[in-house]
Amino acid sequence: MKASIITIGDELLIGQTVDTNSAWLGSELSILGFDIYRKITIHDRREDILEALEEVKGKADVVLITGGLGPTSDDITKQTLCEFLNTKLVPDHEVLAMIETILTRHNFPMNENNRRQAEVPESCQVLKNSVGTAPGMWFEKDKTIFISMPGVPYEMKYIMTDQAIPRLKKRFTSQVVIHRNIMTYGVPEARLAEILTGFEASLPEMIRLAYLPSYGIIKLRLTATGSDNTLLTNILNTQIRKLYEIIPDLIFGENEELLEVVIGKLLKEKGRTVCSAESCTGGNIAHMLTSVPGSSLYYKGSVIAYNNNVKQELLNVPAEIIEKSGAVSEEAVSKMAEGARKLLKTDFSVATSGIAGPDGGTESKPVGTIWIAIASERGVVTEKHIFGSDRKVNITRFSVAALNLLRKQIISH
Ligand code: AMP
Ligand code: MG
Repeated sequence: MKASIITIGDELLIGQTVDTNSAWLGSELSILGFDIYRKITIHDRREDILEALEEVKGKADVVLITGGLGPTSDDITKQTLCEFLNTKLVPDHEVLAMIETILTRHNFPMNENNRRQAEVPESCQVLKNSVGTAPGMWFEKDKTIFISMPGVPYEMKYIMTDQAIPRLKKRFTSQVVIHRNIMTYGVPEARLAEILTGFEASLPEMIRLAYLPSYGIIKLRLTATGSDNTLLTNILNTQIRKLYEIIPDLIFGENEELLEVVIGKLLKEKGRTVCSAESCTGGNIAHMLTSVPGSSLYYKGSVIAYNNNVKQELLNVPAEIIEKSGAVSEEAVSKMAEGARKLLKTDFSVATSGIAGPDGGTESKPVGTIWIAIASERGVVTEKHIFGSDRKVNITRFSVAALNLLRKQIISH
């Protein structure tokens, strides 16, 4: 079962509008068991639309099209579909009546543009749009089903959910597709792939593995495709158990679980508390931890010690350490963690001090350098990382690295 998505609109190509339609449609098609083999984004241009339709015709079982169905002269999808289907536009009386009702309700007279909206290619079936004026259309050519929908996301979603998906389900005896995600942190993608070479090679045919990296976190997505739900679930469970055996230290959660959520669960389970002392992350760790509902049970607060005086006065980092080793140093960050833990009276504390950039780097401490410390009743544990040069990316990567070290410390207690 192959599917393709065509999104039409000049605004999508020049970056004025982000193409959220194709992401949503891709996810819906994937749930239905389709293999989405191509996404095409094109201008509102006759020859481009025809070229795209020709490209997928006969290759995909289903093609979803969005955009270009408005009432104005720049919307040319319908006319072009007529050309492709070798047919003409005819008024659809039900659509016309619905547009009339809407217009009457708002006290607008019917004009030529409205009348044009009620026209559809003669050979298509109308997919009712109860939330807007442009109808969806279903037609078939060379064994491919084409579904054309308006670009407005909520109208497109309505037509898909209410009309198109039920028809597609009837037409294609549904394949089962199950996705499971394993969240990892600790090694880069290339290294992880090397560790998992044997695992990948031994995967059963119906399972595919994808690496989805983001800020140091790598999501391993296992996708099982087949017809028997129970069988696929059992096979997936076996493969996931294997992963836990191969990389126990790298896995922190499953299915989109965030580090801060995992930390919250661990702290609640153990009845422990945490606070933060942040320099280069400027409160981002506090923000991440407190984004989790119920975090007040275990998170006490933060000292954003951006300035060295704050590090000294609130966190008791000795001036000599800052003078001798600098604020971005193992010694300073350890004192920050200890100081915050004492001040805020928590079981754990997490501290960061680094150089987010773009300026402030030196040869021995380049931009992207971070020292992290976790303090607990057993003392202080530290880690140093060197990331890249983008300030925003660094702040996120620093925070994620710090949270992962915190997670490991909580587990080991
Ligand atoms: P149209 O059906 O081409 O008149 O599209 C109407 C509006 O829907 C556009 O102005 C965009 O704001 C929005 N839109 C069109 N295509 C997309 C898309 N692929 N993703 C998100 N929004 C879209
Ligand atoms: Mg448009």
